[in-house]
Amino acid sequence: MDQTVFERNRPAAAVVTEALRGSRAAVFWLDGLPRPEHAVLIGQQRADLVVVGGGYTGLWTAVRAKERDPQRRVIVLEAHEFGWAASGRNGGFCSASITHGEENGRRRWPDEFDTLVRLGEENLTQIEETISRYAMAAEFERTGELSVAIEPHQVEWLEPDVDGFLDADAIRAEVNSPTYLAGRWDRTGTALVNPARLALELARVAAELGVELYEHSAVTGIDRGPQLRVRTERGWVRAGQVALATNVFPSLLKRNRLMTVPVYDYALVTEPLTDAQWAEIGWRNRQGLADLANQFHYYRVTGDGRILFGGYDAIRQRSVDAVHEDRPATFRRLAEHFFTTFPQLGGLQFSHRWAGAIDTSTQFCAFYGLAGAGRIGYAAGFTGLGVGAARFAADVVLDLLGGEKTERTELEMVRRRPLPFPPDPFAAAGVAATKWSLDRADHHQGRRNLLLKTLDAVGLGFDS
Ligand SMILES: Cc1cc2nc3c(=O)[nH]c(=O)nc-3n(C[C@H](O)[C@H](O)[C@H](O)COP(=O)(O)OP(=O)(O)OC[C@H]3O[C@@H](n4cnc5c(N)ncnc54)[C@H](O)[C@@H]3O)c2cc1C
Repeated sequence: MDQTVFERNRPAAAVVTEALRGSRAAVFWLDGLPRPEHAVLIGQQRADLVVVGGGYTGLWTAVRAKERDPQRRVIVLEAHEFGWAASGRNGGFCSASITHGEENGRRRWPDEFDTLVRLGEENLTQIEETISRYAMAAEFERTGELSVAIEPHQVEWLEPDVDGFLDADAIRAEVNSPTYLAGRWDRTGTALVNPARLALELARVAAELGVELYEHSAVTGIDRGPQLRVRTERGWVRAGQVALATNVFPSLLKRNRLMTVPVYDYALVTEPLTDAQWAEIGWRNRQGLADLANQFHYYRVTGDGRILFGGYDAIRQRSVDAVHEDRPATFRRLAEHFFTTFPQLGGLQFSHRWAGAIDTSTQFCAFYGLAGAGRIGYAAGFTGLGVGAARFAADVVLDLLGGEKTERTELEMVRRRPLPFPPDPFAAAGVAATKWSLDRADHHQGRRNLLLKTLDAVGLGFDS
């Protein structure tokens, strides 16, 4: 088996140990972020629309519902705090892609792929416009994304004969890593945001538009009568419609319980770099960065001049539980890979380490639908690329609940439900075999074995 660049060029163990020594198990984005308190739902309320879940999907749904119809009474019920889950702890890559990347979208929906690209681009532009319209302090930067080849076989994937290809010298002039063999800069398809600030600013805008926001108000069930009754431990809301935006958490709809599995993704953030350290690596254009392996890293610069470095180990778990968040072996591996990527930064410390659950679906991007005689809408399954796509999902859910036929609702991507995961232990065995195969492919010039080829052919898989 070939070795990857990270195995060939391992940093000294002491550098890694020292760098992690002072790191705290805390989400950098949420650490010390001032947040307004919101009420707990107690007693009875009435609403036209209840949104369950206060991450991006739920908050965009509330904001868009009010923008579409300011008279509508909208209530959001969040089990914990707004933006505490994936929405407050992600990498902040806000992509135009609503299909988890071009390859996945083109393969699954070849006939409508061009439309999906256009709708995704419009969605990203509308996110930018919304941020500007409401003066949202979300640190939105449309700096684009650099894809980098770090193994010889990946160079080909960057299409050396097509305009915009960056050879080793050109990519290293942008960001100076000895691991880079080639690159490509997509200048418009990705923006970077401060993810937790985006979530909290969406909550602020929702409140200013008249949405009623409740935290620590987990929904325990929905009774279906002439009106829907959305129950929490201490109260309930009678509503005409419900939008479920609970992502990877157990769905309130039985039919959706096997549609997603939690996959834990891990990240590190460094202390702010000194001017001399920045001079060593360049990166003046502040792009998001990702390598091309199956088990890939994503990394970026924060507003205060740190580097966030995440990905690679994606660990499937049976439930969302904070016990999965501290995984020393994974943080150590990430730190090793960081110093292989930037050996010039030896001596730099990590300040934060954390993890979060990604809502993996079998088609790697969101699925949508209605239940409860058309009164309950849902979207979930973004598989690690939901920062931008959540806004698109909000509009889809509102279109569906409104009974409207729109360009969005007519998409095959929206109309057709993907396959569910099999129940455990089959899901666990399948994911383990797939992960093993993906790792082998990364060690064999990207060559996919029979299992991966079969999964590709039937449109199933595992990703983050
Ligand atoms: C470490 C990590 C890195 C990532 N990096 C990126 C990235 O760079 N770019 C990208 O596009 N995507 C990324 N993602 C994915 C992205 O963060 C998610 O797709 C997106 O945040 C999903 O938003 P959401 O609102 O659907 O879900 P969430 O943010 O998970 O929100 C769901 C909310 O529903 C609430 N809830 C659940 N059940 C109930 C209930 N019964 N009652 C009330 N409330 C309930 C939860 O408490 C939670 O707040 C990453 C994810 C992780 C974990």
